[in-house]
Amino acid sequence: MNDDELHPDTVLAHGGTQAATTGHVTPPIAMSTTFGRDRDQGLIVGGDYIRDASPSYKDVERALIKLEGGTSALLFASGMAAATAIFSNLAPGDHVVIPSAMYWGLRKWVLAFGARWNVEVSVVDAWDPANLRAAVRPGKTKLVWIETPANPTWEVTDVAESAAIAHGCGAVLGVDSTAATPLFTRPLDLGADIVMHSATKYLNGHSDVLAGILVTRQSSELWDRIAVHRHDSGAVLGPFDAWLLLRGLRTLRVRVERQSATALELARWLEQQPAISRVRYPGLPSHPQYEIARRQMSGGFGGMMSIQLRGGKEAALRVASRLEVFLRATSLGGTESLVEHRATAEGQGSMAPPDLLRLSIGLEHIDDLRRDLERALV
Ligand SMILES: *Cc1c(COP(=O)(O)O)cnc(C)c1O
Repeated sequence: MNDDELHPDTVLAHGGTQAATTGHVTPPIAMSTTFGRDRDQGLIVGGDYIRDASPSYKDVERALIKLEGGTSALLFASGMAAATAIFSNLAPGDHVVIPSAMYWGLRKWVLAFGARWNVEVSVVDAWDPANLRAAVRPGKTKLVWIETPANPTWEVTDVAESAAIAHGCGAVLGVDSTAATPLFTRPLDLGADIVMHSATKYLNGHSDVLAGILVTRQSSELWDRIAVHRHDSGAVLGPFDAWLLLRGLRTLRVRVERQSATALELARWLEQQPAISRVRYPGLPSHPQYEIARRQMSGGFGGMMSIQLRGGKEAALRVASRLEVFLRATSLGGTESLVEHRATAEGQGSMAPPDLLRLSIGLEHIDDLRRDLERALV
């Protein structure tokens, strides 16, 4: 059977390998940086150099095309390399819209890039479509960028509505879907043009690979430029990292379903705790965009949430310092639960509320996580 006939879970479980034709149940690691030509100068594996495309990228890209319902995918050396490949292919004079709540490192980069290369950047509260509508300029806006749920405050943005607004002015909609994972939201089905993941997070899921990926809904001139950009800038992955990523992907479904179920139960419990003023989790009815989340996310609301402490910044730092099962570290989407005081991590200019702790829910037993939080909150 070919991929079209298979459920994404089956493609994931097989790790994208072609065991029937190659005999390898898990794929070999193709370490070669250079690939031969036949006597007529024909390419034997479809490229002659690792920057063109290593065979080790193909299985990962194939799995993500299937998961996201796209037509083409490009694996990058990191999530930042993937996202910046899109922005880097805008032209001076273009206008872009980005959300106020988004991955801190990317916002910082886009603002600096825009200032230097004369790409005008509007920063708006993108979860309210009225703000997006007011920000776009027909013919001038070339890219609308959203992140949903958005780090670290987890606002949910309506992808279909954002796509309509972007397309209405001739722009492309790009979505950072890292926190939602391809299992809980399929932005391309909702009209987005390009979806991006930091594969460092849930896709790999074991906190041991840095990678990023883009998937496109359809071929386009922009997509062709991005492919050339990956090749020419050299923002590609090492073969062993690609192999590890494929290994992580095999268990994506069971990992994120469990993480999401634990997160929902913990979020409901955390909301009852007197020390906490607010729990930010898209799966709670108290979430401002709960109705959009219910419509747009299927199967779960993800493993990411943030809590805000009544005692302010000091209380947040105290709770973080007392946790033992939750590890104090940045990043997300691994098997281990992590806690992070985002304002500290982001430093000067951070827009993260000082009383906020971000939690990435792992695969530990929920009783241990709850007890850990219970002890830390008193
Ligand atoms: C981590 C992250 C990124 C950046 O990805 P890297 O793989 O660290 O380069 C971008 N967006 C989101 C939402 C992230 O969590």
